[in-house]
Amino acid sequence: MGSKVHGKLKLAHASGGVKSEPLRFAADCMLGRLARWLRILGHDVVYFHTVDDSELVDFAAREGRVLLTRDTRLVQRRAARGALLIHSHLLEEQLRQMVLWNRQALLGPPLCRRCLECNQATVPVKKAELKDRVPVYVYRTQARFMTCPACGRIYWRATHVLSMLRRLRRSLPRASQ
Ligand SMILES: [Zn+2]
Repeated sequence: MGSKVHGKLKLAHASGGVKSEPLRFAADCMLGRLARWLRILGHDVVYFHTVDDSELVDFAAREGRVLLTRDTRLVQRRAARGALLIHSHLLEEQLRQMVLWNRQALLGPPLCRRCLECNQATVPVKKAELKDRVPVYVYRTQARFMTCPACGRIYWRATHVLSMLRRLRRSLPRASQ
C-alpha cells in the first residue's frame, strides 16, 4: 500500500495561532473533493460514494456530524436541520463557502493530520524508515513525514496544498483575514 503516496503540508494558520478541535462532517456523494480538502484542513469527514438520503441524514444525526450536501431537497427535511447546503460545484467556491461559514473552526485545527483516503488520524514516521518508499526527490527535500496506521499511505508537505490555501485566503474578504 505504501507505493501510493500523497503530498502533504504544514502551514501557519491565518487564525492567529489559536488552535481549535477538528469539526466532524458527513458529506454526500457529490462532495468527494471537498471531503478530501476538509481532511487536509484537519477535519474528520465521512464521505459516502453512494448513500440513500435518509441513511445519510440519520447517520449525520446519530454521529453528531454536520451534514454537507449539494441536494436542495435533502436540506428541506426536518431531520436535516443544521445541514449545510453547498452552493457551487467548484471546489474553490465550496471551500470558500465553508471558510466563510466558520473561519475560526475551519482553519483552526492543525493541517494534514488525517489520511485523505480513510479519514484516520495520521502519526509521525521516522524519515529513515521511508528511504525506499517515497520518491528520491521527496526524500531529499522533505524532513517530516506522517503515515496512516490503517492503510500505510505516507504524507508530506506538498506545494499544491500550499498554493490552494494561498488562493483560498486571497479569495476571502479582507476584513476577516
Ligand atoms: Zn489511510
